[in-house]
Amino acid sequence: MPRRLVPVKNMVEENLSPADIKRNLKTELIGKKVIAYPSLSSTNDIAKRQARKGAREGTVVVAEEQTAGRGRLKRAWLSPKGSVALSIILHPTPPQLPSLIMVASLAVVHCIEKMGLKTQIKWPNDVLIKGKKVCGILVESDVRGKAVDYAVIGIGLNVNVNTADFPEIAATATSLSQELGKELSRREVIRCLLVELEDLYLALPEGDSVFREWRDRLVTLEKEVELIAGNTKYKGVAESVASDGSLFLRQPDGNLTKIVAGDVSLRQ
Ligand code: ATP
Repeated sequence: MPRRLVPVKNMVEENLSPADIKRNLKTELIGKKVIAYPSLSSTNDIAKRQARKGAREGTVVVAEEQTAGRGRLKRAWLSPKGSVALSIILHPTPPQLPSLIMVASLAVVHCIEKMGLKTQIKWPNDVLIKGKKVCGILVESDVRGKAVDYAVIGIGLNVNVNTADFPEIAATATSLSQELGKELSRREVIRCLLVELEDLYLALPEGDSVFREWRDRLVTLEKEVELIAGNTKYKGVAESVASDGSLFLRQPDGNLTKIVAGDVSLRQ
């Protein structure tokens, strides 16, 4: 039986120390080493620095809050106290690299669904609840020649956050505490994320189950969308996705264009 995440009543301020996070953590790889900070500019930046210094695969960087969290296209990601901000260092093979977006979004989806909430994935990696964004994911990597030096999965999840306090996202974002009407243990949420990430990551060499589940959960497919890639705007119907995460867009003139998940913004 999967363990259910239980909302915590009368929340006390929780300690996110490495020892607290690692206690009862049932993973073999991810989270064997945890580095925790009360406040950081960006967990991805510190994780990349650690990776360059040779940190082992599965090392996790956690922060109580990020002061300069980033999304894709250098957009700001708000990550106040009460949210979960973490980054994981991985050493995938080159063919596994595009799947990390899928691994990350599915890990978040699995954990949220254990709380009894329904989720949607907006291509390529936004996790939504009732159409509102609850999580941002940023995968960054360093590829040298044909080898992946390292990859970092960054996850920002609105856990115990009142999005109404942040006018720039109040209309488009939600949080787990808002959806559940109660606060959650962030430690438990982090442990759940690490376990799910590991299960999905270790399943990558075994076939395309991760891709298929991600594809089947996308709300974007068969919908009219607008894509902005640099100075180019595309409009059309999101027809399908490829196993490397790209989107096939059917344009009004009938052309099918392959859009690589990366520096593209999608509006539905
Ligand atoms: P979009 O959400 O516009 O499709 P994107 O998927 O590329 O773009 P990201 O780069 O993942 O977006 O995230 C950055 C965007 O998310 C910001 O521009 C802002 O609109 C929104 N955002 C920032 N912080 C939060 C937050 N804590 N919760 C929900 N949304 C946020």
